[in-house]
Amino acid sequence: MQILHPFAGSVQQYNEQLSNPDAHRPGSCPQCRTKHPLTAHGFYTRTLIDTAFDGSIRVRRYLCHACQRTVSLLPEFILPYLRSSLTVIAAFLIARLLLAQTLKTAAPPPTPYQRGQFWMRRFRAHAEALCAALAALTQPTPARDFVHRALTMLESTGWIAAHRFLFGGVRCHLLGWPRGLAPDSRRATFSSAGAPA
Ligand SMILES: [Zn+2]
Repeated sequence: MQILHPFAGSVQQYNEQLSNPDAHRPGSCPQCRTKHPLTAHGFYTRTLIDTAFDGSIRVRRYLCHACQRTVSLLPEFILPYLRSSLTVIAAFLIARLLLAQTLKTAAPPPTPYQRGQFWMRRFRAHAEALCAALAALTQPTPARDFVHRALTMLESTGWIAAHRFLFGGVRCHLLGWPRGLAPDSRRATFSSAGAPA
């Protein structure tokens, strides 16, 4: 299970504080709810592209001895399953969809053209659901469509704060879960795949 690392700062500051497993050690298990601090259980490595960073970062893992499952602490500037940071994606979506800049201006290298198109496609498909979820945080604003309304709501809430609420609170992905990876649809996907036609 992935939970968010309550960390605000740069990628470099994130890397520097990773050596201390006690800094953000979960005091209880988010999966089985056992009220016992989790045990540090190494790291996994993932790639990240941020405004001033392009490389690998480590993500700390903890183990719950009660249920034998691991919990990884994903930094808040990262969206699950996406390589670019939330800051990079947010800047692109604002430039392209709210300010109507050209793709070339909105996605300066190294953001590849296809990646920008992919974010837009997912954001458009998910915008209506996003507006409904974000209404718990901020007043919906009049806008000409759900895409513009969602972007305005994200700007007023703050993208990281919105991500913290969506992912931590309601297990919702800011760009929508990729097919088959939603935490709640996983079981449904498997059982329907195995069900007789
Ligand atoms: Zn547990």
